[in-house]
Amino acid sequence: MHKIADGIETRLDELAEYESRDTGKPLSLAKTVDIPRAVTNFRFFADLVLEHETEEILDGQGSVNRIIRQPLGIVGCISPWNLPLYLFTWKIAPAIAAGNCVIGKPSELTPYTAFKLGEICQEAELPDGVLNIVQGTGMNTGSAIVAHPKIKAVSFTGGTKTGEAISREAAPQFKKLSLELGGKNPNIIFADCDFTSMLETTIRSSFSNQGEICLCGSRIFVEESIYDTFRNAFIKRTQSLNVGDPNDEKTDMGALISKGHLEKVTGYIDLAKEEGGTILIGGENADVNGRCNDGYFFEPTVIDGLNADCRTNQEEIFGPVVSLIPFSSEDEVIAMANSTQYGLSATIWTENTTKADRVAGKLDSGVVWVNCWMVRDLRTPFGGMKNSGVGREGSLEALDFFTEQKNICRIQ
Ligand code: NDP
Repeated sequence: MHKIADGIETRLDELAEYESRDTGKPLSLAKTVDIPRAVTNFRFFADLVLEHETEEILDGQGSVNRIIRQPLGIVGCISPWNLPLYLFTWKIAPAIAAGNCVIGKPSELTPYTAFKLGEICQEAELPDGVLNIVQGTGMNTGSAIVAHPKIKAVSFTGGTKTGEAISREAAPQFKKLSLELGGKNPNIIFADCDFTSMLETTIRSSFSNQGEICLCGSRIFVEESIYDTFRNAFIKRTQSLNVGDPNDEKTDMGALISKGHLEKVTGYIDLAKEEGGTILIGGENADVNGRCNDGYFFEPTVIDGLNADCRTNQEEIFGPVVSLIPFSSEDEVIAMANSTQYGLSATIWTENTTKADRVAGKLDSGVVWVNCWMVRDLRTPFGGMKNSGVGREGSLEALDFFTEQKNICRIQ
């Protein structure tokens, strides 16, 4: 696995170019986030599995219970288009580390780095058959993986509706399922926060990767007393973002993944207007000249004037669109933050750690960031509550998922 990581690292620039070309994301982002994380995924699980110990329980009256973990056999890994190699390897690495063979399917919209990973694994002399990368659409290839009786577990990241379909298909065969699904994450800003640090990070948590990260904070709740100050500063900072050619180093936001997705995002802007929202900035396709003239670029968009319970604030848009909502009390913001079907991640901004802990404890979110965003220690469990998913990825949770425990009891 370290040899695979070496192979990805050696070809980092090349892989970043493919990733940027497939997704439309800035090349700089692919170089600094997507591909380095794929390297880390392999190294992390290669090391973690060595620390995994067999547990023994002695009852003191002569019996010894030895609990071993065995690989499941063949497992399926299905990943989405927004962080292609990053999320593909996040599943494949623990599956292989745990001793399984993998049938992996990337999104048909972003197949290329997965294809290249196959070559890298061959160069690293991964035995034939350990990793099998199949390309094809979700309806054909994806559902064939889920339905196949020899595939004992499916690790899936993607939309909540697809997660539902996969659950239905897998249930009669009692397959193990790990589902990482959609989100509509709250970003809660209290008046006593470090404003400068909050503003910079909130720009990132709103618009990184064109807002196409499941962890982006698309509902920004701002304490009433600083609402106007925040709104003005946030609009000004948003204005300074460059939407442009992904190859240009000055580009902050590239293109959306597809025409269909651009239409979906545009549809939500129309809905926001119908629901009485005000588009404070953005809301239109972005003009990018030159070789990207026909690309699916969309302006970073900030909306206000909408209730927390309208569709725009309840449904996942998965684009560069955020909605600002004022709040006046902790209880009110917690109720609004928890009001969606989702529960993936949340961010809290305050200098009061007691308040941060109190609010974090009441949020329906698998991950809560305080005064930061997307800071990841891979030893921590990752996943969502409610319709954002089932199970946790990362760390020992992933090794648990990809193995079956067996208790061997003997009398001494
Ligand atoms: P989809 O659910 O459409 O697709 C995800 C993957 O599943 C793709 O490889 C897709 O194939 C495949 N697929 C589609 N239908 C089926 C099916 N019936 N059976 C098996 N596989 C299928 O999601 P998107 O690719 O559109 O990704 C965006 C979604 O992913 C967002 O909702 C986002 O929130 C979520 N996401 C969640 C994350 C998390 O950690 N919770 C992280 C990143 C994204 P194909 O594309 O080839 O048709």
